[in-house]
Order: sequence, then C-alpha cells, then structure tokens
Amino acid sequence: MTLQNRQICNQCILPESFPGIKFNQEGICNYCYDYKNFEFGDEELFVQTLEKLKRRKKGPYDALVPLSGGKDSTYTLYLAINKYNLNVMTYTFDNGFLSESALKNIRTITDKTGVDYLFVKPGLNTLKRFFRAALLQAGELCSPCGLGIQSSCNKISRDMGIPMLLLGTSTLEKKCPPPEKMYDLQRFSAILFDAQIEDSNYWYDNPGLKIFTPLNYSRLKEDEIKALLEKEMGWQDWGKHSDCIAEPFSNYLREHRYGFSRRACFYSEMIRRGEMKRDEALEKLADENPAEEPKNLDEVLSRLGLTRDELKTIIKIPPFKYAKYCYQPPKWKKLTPRRILRYAKRKIVGSG
Ligand SMILES: [Zn+2]
Repeated sequence: MTLQNRQICNQCILPESFPGIKFNQEGICNYCYDYKNFEFGDEELFVQTLEKLKRRKKGPYDALVPLSGGKDSTYTLYLAINKYNLNVMTYTFDNGFLSESALKNIRTITDKTGVDYLFVKPGLNTLKRFFRAALLQAGELCSPCGLGIQSSCNKISRDMGIPMLLLGTSTLEKKCPPPEKMYDLQRFSAILFDAQIEDSNYWYDNPGLKIFTPLNYSRLKEDEIKALLEKEMGWQDWGKHSDCIAEPFSNYLREHRYGFSRRACFYSEMIRRGEMKRDEALEKLADENPAEEPKNLDEVLSRLGLTRDELKTIIKIPPFKYAKYCYQPPKWKKLTPRRILRYAKRKIVGSG
C-alpha cells in the first residue's frame, strides 16, 4: 500500500489505513454502515446542572471557557455569555504556534464582549523541550499542547474557585479522535522519562472541576454559527487558516505515520451527516494534499529546533509506540508492568 493507491471507502473518504476499518462487498466502510445520527443532549437538563453548579463557585466566575480564536471556542463563549448567562473567565493557551488570524480574532472578541481574559504563555524553551520530546520519542507534537491546555484549565479554575469548564470541542471532532491516546498523562510521562526530562510542575490537577461541551446542545448549522459570530462577536472567518500554524505539520506527520489525516476524518464525518458531497471532499483533500510538505515547514522546524534529518527519523517512528503506557482502568492490574507503576509515581514535568 502506498499513500496514492490505497483503497478508500466508496461512501466516505476514509482509507484502508484508518484504525479499525473494514470494508464490505460494496467497498463501504464499517464507519459508514454502522453510522448513527448524532444525538443532541438534553438542553433543559444541562441548564439545570449549570444552575446547580453556579452555587459552588468560590469567586466571581461561574465558568472557565478556553478561547483559541476559532469558530468552536468562540461559539462556546457566545453561548456561555448570551444564552446561559454565565459570568465567564476566558483564557488562551499560547502553544507557541498561534496564528496571526487567531490572535486578531481573540483581540476583537475579548474587546467586543468585555469578558475577563487571561493569556497563558509557557516559556518557549520549556515548550520546545516538550515538543521535541513528543516528536523524537513518539512522532507527534499534539500531546504537550493538549495536556498543557488541560493542566492550565485545572490550575486557573482551582486558583479562582471556578466550578466548571466549558469546552468548544465540536461534535465533528468528537467523532474523529486522534489515532492513539495522545492526551494521556501516563503516556506523556513515559515520553518525558525516555527523553530524560525531569521537571515537577507541569501537571496541575483539579478533580472537582466539571467539564461540559455546550456544542452538544446546539442545533445551528455551520453557516448559521459563522454568520452569528461575525455579527455578535466580531469573529472573522479566515478560511483555510487554522488557529495553529503547526497544524499542517501535524497533519503531514499523521498522514505519513498513520496513513490518514485529520481532514480525511472530518470530511468523512461531514459526508455521513449529509453536509458535504464525496466529490467535494476528495477535491478539497487533493487540494490540501496533507502528504505533501507544508509550505511553512521550515518555519515550524526552526521554531522547534529540528533538523530535516531528525524529521526523517520522526516519520519512521512506529505508531502506538507508547500505547501500553496509557491509563487503562478495567485491566489496570493485569496489564501493568512494573515500569508503568514507576512512571505513575512520577510527577510530570514543566513550567508553572
Ligand atoms: Zn466510509
């Protein structure tokens, strides 16, 4: 199988390299024939829960809403303020790769709403060490960022006595999880251990924090959301530009290491939902061509202090290298070698 001539589903565009995929005689994948319509949550119940939790706050804020400047987090912020009448603290985690367009949106949105806002920027040297460790040990760069966001959400909410976190995870994203458990703390801990990084302040815990995804209750279509945000939040659609300038790089790695990109997964889900035609998806994917070197590759490599030779090594790292270190509750005792326990006792790395 090469990237060019692999089999893809006749209904969506998932390739044979997608984890767990099977094709029937008509060449239709199991994700298509097992597909069930997305079920929206019970909004009334959700509102009741919000009201109950508000009473648990130990400061002025009802909820913390992370803001990346993208459509989904902006819409979540809109819902929190305007629909659920919450007193919100919002914040951005700067992973060192925030795009100019995302920053512009963030500035406009925070000005327009007047919401209280924090900008969390870990030291670039610290971030670089984590990114390099994730890349050189595990072949990906999403874990330091994803866990950094989680950790800072925990810290801010704990320090400010905020009882709930409202995440802007789109329903599309939920159906397209990363190929392996990239946001697993034990796994990341093992990566840092192998990279010989020993820091103790990376991870903050907040077990009492309740997490919700308001987008699960919204029935507006993509276009309606965009129009609403442009009008009410001053948000701008920058088209292809992502919030994160390292996303094409991350997609490129995923395409070469796992044989599929995030886009292929998103478009496939949109086809199943009837929001996109298969031809259109194929055309878009061919246009974006995640297998090809991203235009800003040199910029991203230089920020990470990586050489082209290192990149070649990274692409060859086998997927799921750290899968066995992930937290697996039901079989924990059976599957746990002594090494995992040793990792589990370690506190994870980092800045503050
Ligand atoms: Zn399919």
